[in-house]
Amino acid sequence: MRVFIGIGSNLGAREDNIKKAVDKLKAIASIAIEGISSIIETEPQGGPQQGKYLNAVLQLSTALKPKDLLKVLLKIEKDLGRIRGEKNAPRTMDLDILLYEDKIINTQSLTIPHPRMFNREFVMKPLLEIYPDFKNKVKKIKL
Ligand code: AMP
Repeated sequence: MRVFIGIGSNLGAREDNIKKAVDKLKAIASIAIEGISSIIETEPQGGPQQGKYLNAVLQLSTALKPKDLLKVLLKIEKDLGRIRGEKNAPRTMDLDILLYEDKIINTQSLTIPHPRMFNREFVMKPLLEIYPDFKNKVKKIKL
């Protein structure tokens, strides 16, 4: 399955955190990294006052089901020191499933495509860098 993951960090050694998350994903047998966007620095959106983010998007291929992939991502966030505080609080690591093939998923724990990705430049810019054809797909959906 072709999957796109949003990755962000605004606490600690941000670039190192991103590299560590990528290495942890690489170490999982059922996941292959197919593409990595540039890392961009972005302003935090919402939440308490906090430092800037580094954001990137990864393309994976995986046999994991969405909910199992989510479990893997939540564990990596935890292993990298993520502490769940208030909404939009600063974080060492944030991993979101943006797209999972062409699937539309709406369960209690997962919404795919990620509901807030379309109006977030810090997601769309790196996503379109590694998946430019997504633009045409979105146009078709909107017609
Ligand atoms: P946060 O890390 O604060 O963005 O929220 C993580 C929680 O959002 C997870 O525990 C998931 O249950 C939920 N969630 C819903 N949709 C998604 C998605 N597409 N990717 C990652 N987490 C999601």
